[in-house]
Amino acid sequence: MEDLEKKIYAYALKNALAHEGKAMQGPVISSLFNEGLKNSEVGKYAKKISEIILKVNALSPEQQEKEFGKLKEGVSERETREGLEELPNAEKGVVMRFRPSPSGPLHVGHLISNFISSLYVKKYGGKFYVIIDDTDPKTCLSNAYKEIPKNCDWVFGNVYKYFNASDRIPLYYEYAEKLIKKDSAYVCTCSSEKFKKFTEEEKNCPCRKLTAKENMERWKKMLDKSGFKEHEAVLRFKSDMKHKNPAMRDFPLARISETPHPIQKKKYNVWPLMNLSVMVDDIELKMTHIIRGKDHMDNAKRQEMMYKVLGHKFPWTFFIGRIKFTDLILSKRKITAAIKEGEFSGEEDERLPTIASLKKRGYKPEAFAKFVEQRGLTEVDKVMDSKEFFNLLDNFNK
Ligand SMILES: [Zn+2]
Repeated sequence: MEDLEKKIYAYALKNALAHEGKAMQGPVISSLFNEGLKNSEVGKYAKKISEIILKVNALSPEQQEKEFGKLKEGVSERETREGLEELPNAEKGVVMRFRPSPSGPLHVGHLISNFISSLYVKKYGGKFYVIIDDTDPKTCLSNAYKEIPKNCDWVFGNVYKYFNASDRIPLYYEYAEKLIKKDSAYVCTCSSEKFKKFTEEEKNCPCRKLTAKENMERWKKMLDKSGFKEHEAVLRFKSDMKHKNPAMRDFPLARISETPHPIQKKKYNVWPLMNLSVMVDDIELKMTHIIRGKDHMDNAKRQEMMYKVLGHKFPWTFFIGRIKFTDLILSKRKITAAIKEGEFSGEEDERLPTIASLKKRGYKPEAFAKFVEQRGLTEVDKVMDSKEFFNLLDNFNK
């Protein structure tokens, strides 16, 4: 432990010397992470760390210099990062996005993988879009259309424009037809069980042989409300049924859903799946850089395949590591259900990790910005409990 105290002291001195004699807790803690301090230990050492920082800040710059001279061998050369690392090809500005689904309240999990995009748009200039991903009528909650912009305006403060994906359905259809005409998409009428078997056996389904013209006829029959019904037909991308990753094999692009939509009501019965709508919006809105969670790696590969077919250059993409909270409910579905059951008073309930609740508890958007900035562009996953997380956030909230 003596060793750790020495390290704290050294990093506090280093930080103080870089900042006119005043060390700050956040950067010191993050240097200690590089030394192997675990998140779970932050709470335990927080008091010690702030004591040492007080001690260091009370020294004159000359004394700090002298003390640091004695210790600097034990200190990593690696600088505690100030600000975000640079993105490639970003000098002329960036176009980035966040696509929340309206299936429940926004929460800290969303911030961890998406706040950084908003910060990069602030850094380089450009456009930050928020697209409400509401093309699954079964999961859309009508109050989300009001809550998402309200929370995003507060927390990001730089949203260039909001879109509802469901207002862009004709555009998605247009691209679906482009893919059909290029013989890169087909309408499959096999049951999902049957198609699953084809996937496992690496065999083509009979629908794959149809001509573009026949597929266009089937597609029109999908769009025709008196034509195919729910589960009777699905538009698939023609990738490769022998692709080494089974998840890439002729994945679906659009399907029929007869559930009324909160905004579009019964206007549409064919709904794009995420890979189609995301690809279309990224092309149409000219996304330059995309930072997404590692859970979207397969989706990015799927979208890249479609970009290729359509002759577009795929945006620079980074997969940011997750923070896995051991004790926070981050499932929108679970949060929504628990609110409904009266377990929580609403989105703003102080026990929930929602944006609305954090705002109510007095957290400032700048605290999240600092947290996200310190963590930086990292692929590393982290496990944290809420106490550790809020300790860090509290430090940044001052
Ligand atoms: Zn088929």
